Amino acid sequence: MALIVQKYGGTSVGDLERIANVAGRVQASRDAGNHVVVVVSAMSGETDRLLTLAKAIGDVPPPRELDVLLSTGEQTTIALLAMTLEARGCPARSYTGAQVRIQTDSAHNKARILSIDHQTLCRDLKEGYVAVVAGFQGVDPQGSITTLGRGGSDTTAVALAAALDADECQIYTDVDGVYTTDPRMVQTARRLDRLTYEEMLEMASLGAKVLQIRAVEFASKYKTRLRVLSSFEEGPGTLITSEDEIMEQAVISGIAFNRDEAKITILGVPDNPGIARQILGAVAERNIEVDMIIQNVAQDGNTDFTFTVHRNDLQRALEAVHKVAAELSAREVIGDDKIVKISLVGVGMRSHSGIASLMFGALADEGINIQMISTSEIKISVVVEEKYLELGVRALHDTFELDKPPAEG
Ligand code: ADP
Ligand code: ASP
Ligand code: MG
Repeated sequence: MALIVQKYGGTSVGDLERIANVAGRVQASRDAGNHVVVVVSAMSGETDRLLTLAKAIGDVPPPRELDVLLSTGEQTTIALLAMTLEARGCPARSYTGAQVRIQTDSAHNKARILSIDHQTLCRDLKEGYVAVVAGFQGVDPQGSITTLGRGGSDTTAVALAAALDADECQIYTDVDGVYTTDPRMVQTARRLDRLTYEEMLEMASLGAKVLQIRAVEFASKYKTRLRVLSSFEEGPGTLITSEDEIMEQAVISGIAFNRDEAKITILGVPDNPGIARQILGAVAERNIEVDMIIQNVAQDGNTDFTFTVHRNDLQRALEAVHKVAAELSAREVIGDDKIVKISLVGVGMRSHSGIASLMFGALADEGINIQMISTSEIKISVVVEEKYLELGVRALHDTFELDKPPAEG
């Protein structure tokens, strides 16, 4: 008997009719002879609604209490799904994260899973129950409820699949797989049959929110077969797996984009050893993560220094930088949140040259100015003005012919 972990996202459990649709799928998988563990998200919009309530009380809600509040979204869904399954004659038991002892650290609102006690679930499965587990939540060593960061139900599902040594972890969502880019932006985007863990990790890290980054990290670490599928239509979905299981490898597998970054530029900084440390040190002291960094070649002993942070951190980062800039007698500090990062991803880049120039040429042909560039073995990212996002993504999708399947051989 195979053991399958299925995860259903917010849209898939958005109302009772959709929950009934999910129950039908779960029951069909069980009737086909599988042991099934189901992980669910909160009903669509619920986590946002709860967040808005909390923020109406205070701008920065106490993190521990915020987790108590946010976890109720998933708790509602597990009960509704278990009731629906029972009503259909499918024995089911629901569990919160704490009840199945999904142990996490104490980093409220962005906790990491440390361990899972799978005994309760195994017992239920043996007795013929479907186990319905709340995604996105766990419990810390003090017994406090924690949550795993937005999109965290994906991570619950993969972590459970790894702990239970499941045959497959199926992520059911509102698209029928992982596409060459967000199909809501580019209509010619193509569903990928397969993708490596490494590529999916880059896509997720660079902004494709179809899977939470941590979920892909878990899957890669434990070699969990991970499949993204639609809750609303049949189809093979996208399998995320090891490189050796992929026969036809495209040079570029996809384009990701991120609207969440902002850029800070410090003009006219004296070009002395240690300035990068001084500027970035002041930002790091405030626990702000920096993504891309560039420093220009010095002219007349002065240089310009630019880096990006999450948009939510822009104001705090600017405060830190203004202070250092004054100490360094820098000429000016500029904050810009009207930027986006567009990235090309593909393991085939390792063995192909000329990708970067093709990319930069495609953007130049559309009159899009590149403000920053960063590369790794399997990705090239550029920062451009926000208004060029769609144009840039579409131009790259066309240039690299991502609407067509990779040529054979
Ligand atoms: P869920 O609520 O099921 O977790 P999400 O909204 O988190 O669903 O993720 C699914 C969404 O991810 C899709 O609706 C799609 O707009 C977006 N998305 C972004 N990039 C991609 C991509 N490359 N392939 C598929 N979907 C993508
Ligand atoms: N409900 C949580 C969120 O909206 C977790 C999830 O859906 O994965 O982020
Ligand atoms: Mg999601």
